[in-house]
Amino acid sequence: MLLSRFPRVSLAHLPTPLEALPRLSKHLGGPDIYVKRDDCTGLGTGGNKTRKLEFLMAEALQRKATVVITQGAVQSNHARQTAAAACKLGMKCELVFEKRIDRPSDPYLKSGNVFLDRIYGADIREVDKGSDMTAALESVADELRNKGETAYVIPGGGSNRVGALGYVDCAYEFMTQANRMGLVIDHVIHATGSAGTQAGLIAGLKASHSGIPLLGIGVNAPRDVQEERVFKLAVETAEYIGAAGTVERKDVVADCSYIGDGYGVPTEAMNEAVLLLARLEGILFDPVYTGKALAGMIDLIRKKKFGRKDKLLFIHTGGSAGLFGYSDRLRTRA
Ligand SMILES: *Cc1c(COP(=O)(O)O)cnc(C)c1O
Repeated sequence: MLLSRFPRVSLAHLPTPLEALPRLSKHLGGPDIYVKRDDCTGLGTGGNKTRKLEFLMAEALQRKATVVITQGAVQSNHARQTAAAACKLGMKCELVFEKRIDRPSDPYLKSGNVFLDRIYGADIREVDKGSDMTAALESVADELRNKGETAYVIPGGGSNRVGALGYVDCAYEFMTQANRMGLVIDHVIHATGSAGTQAGLIAGLKASHSGIPLLGIGVNAPRDVQEERVFKLAVETAEYIGAAGTVERKDVVADCSYIGDGYGVPTEAMNEAVLLLARLEGILFDPVYTGKALAGMIDLIRKKKFGRKDKLLFIHTGGSAGLFGYSDRLRTRA
């Protein structure tokens, strides 16, 4: 299928590099680990939401939106990339933050992503933990519409079938790169949260009959909830791209055993993984998503869940700006 049938606006630096991590692979004694650098999509320090926003913001432009509204945690990478995209396209940006973390620290509330949101001039509102975020978005949208604005609402994480197109595209992109490099990918691994990334990847991998299994490492919900969420969106996305019937329930696998005490709450294994990758490969990962996913991948490797000669592709979905929001929560001594 042709993704060029869908409206799209260029926001990301693409294609992102696909690189080997030889020092990490050696350190772990195999398998061969590669990384897809979606932390390098460019916009406002980059990350996975930029690919989704290429399709979402194109729809906002089509509808002549004057303001985009979205939601997330205070240290949301999605909110930061949305704020940057709105600036680039001359729209206002309204962010609704859920106070998802108990007893947040000063850096969490002021630095990292939220500091960048303020630099981008986004309007920020906060609601209590556990609020109905969809309702909160709609009420802000109504308020702005009453003031004469044309509001475009983007769901949390940009995860609907439009945003997921960004990760259908990513699947095509790394398959093309792998084909050119002669790289046979045995497994793809990444952090899964609001589900759009995994849903888009599955739709792309299945629609093209790649035969590559995908493992999402959850950062938020328990396994059954996460897999159902991804499956529903993957089916919708496959239909949307004209590949109805290609996604089966068994294609959706999420391992949610590396969350620790909850979303955005640091774990020791995450901290270890962030330090390991920084010191072995010079690459920064993040405390909320990629650090926990890496910790999961490393644990599964140590438990011999992959063959020693397998080729793993880890998708780095970004988030390193969030490190600054956790500067008082992360150990820097190995
Ligand atoms: C949002 C995000 C994810 C998860 O992507 P979803 O599409 O929400 O599942 C992973 N990594 C980072 C850094 C993110 O910001």
